[in-house]
Amino acid sequence: MTAVATPTRTRDEELLALYSNPDTCPADRLKPVPLIEEQAFVAWQQDIPREYLRVSPEELDQRIRAARAYLGKRLVILGHHYQRDEVIQYADFTGDSFKLARHAAEQKEAEYVLFCGVHFMAESADILTRPEVRVILPNMAAGCSMADMADPDDVYAAWDEIHEVLAGSGSKVIPITYMNSAASLKAFTGEHDGLVCTSSNAPKSFDYAFERGDKIFFFPDQHLGRNTGYAKGIPLDQMVLWNWRLPHGGLTPDQIRKAKVILWAGHCSTHQRFSVEQIEKARRDYPGINVIVHPECRWEVVQAADDSGSTEKIVRVVTEAPAGTAWAVGTEINLVNRLAHENPDKTIFCLDPVVCPCSTMYRIHPAYVAWVLEGLVAGHVINEVRVDDETRKWSLVALERMLALP
Ligand code: SF4
Repeated sequence: MTAVATPTRTRDEELLALYSNPDTCPADRLKPVPLIEEQAFVAWQQDIPREYLRVSPEELDQRIRAARAYLGKRLVILGHHYQRDEVIQYADFTGDSFKLARHAAEQKEAEYVLFCGVHFMAESADILTRPEVRVILPNMAAGCSMADMADPDDVYAAWDEIHEVLAGSGSKVIPITYMNSAASLKAFTGEHDGLVCTSSNAPKSFDYAFERGDKIFFFPDQHLGRNTGYAKGIPLDQMVLWNWRLPHGGLTPDQIRKAKVILWAGHCSTHQRFSVEQIEKARRDYPGINVIVHPECRWEVVQAADDSGSTEKIVRVVTEAPAGTAWAVGTEINLVNRLAHENPDKTIFCLDPVVCPCSTMYRIHPAYVAWVLEGLVAGHVINEVRVDDETRKWSLVALERMLALP
């Protein structure tokens, strides 16, 4: 009997099969492919010269390594924890946005910083590096859906409306923006006695704010704000949600006056996928398992977990855990898979078994890295991220307040 050859599946068919299987995650299974084959998965890509579309992963790897060798110490590559393995392998430094911000600030020799993260991270790197350093984002379409939920004009309007309500009360509001925001919002906090925070230092940023004011206006991530405030002992009913789509944020003047924290109604699509039900299932399937989640998860998820913290904390806690322990992790899948790979003596898996990559960070395919690096070799700076001087001045104030937190 003649065997029937299995037809080679297209990339779309492969993705469909993966999405249809609740036990798999695409980022867990997809092998490196030429960029052209990823276009169906990653829409809204930045245009790239056609010659990069069909280059094989092996050839891209050789070309990236050759360009790096040529550029030497003139180039530093930063890679966020959520970046895919095919790209993060080239990073000189890896970390969360806080750690990478510090690395960017410490660069004394580099002419170019290639930031394999998303747009707001590259902006922060540009603000923190010397003016002559050129910061490059491989794919300008690598944004952040959470950052995009806080349009600066909406935030400025909310600030004015909040102050109309509080006029004459003597109340002082300190704005805090999560690192995941546009540079103009970082500048806004700098100009208004506030600061930037990351998930690593959000609790300390709350201390800073309450030493200088009696209310916090926190944007764009409601969940990090709520989880931080709750951990600081602020009752949930004193943390109100400002929905920018509604008049006065959907709040009454009384709610605004009584609030300790006014939270912007933004969220991270990746971390919204984690649920209490997933935690309960993990506990049923693996009695005694440890559950650790990122504070961008919803409040009830953080409450149901054993621990929560920044990606840096998650990496540290899981890495330092004894052999033989089991961990269900509520954060982005590329990081969780890497942790599992690097800790074969432990059971480590992502709480969400279906689809949980940061889809915007995933837009940085090695073809984009090769494109911008070969541009540098040829003397062209492609995809430079540059923050204007006024925004830079006030953003730097806000970022330096963050970096100076104890
Ligand atoms: S994981 Fe969420 S918050 Fe982080 S970069 Fe991606 S979309 Fe933005």
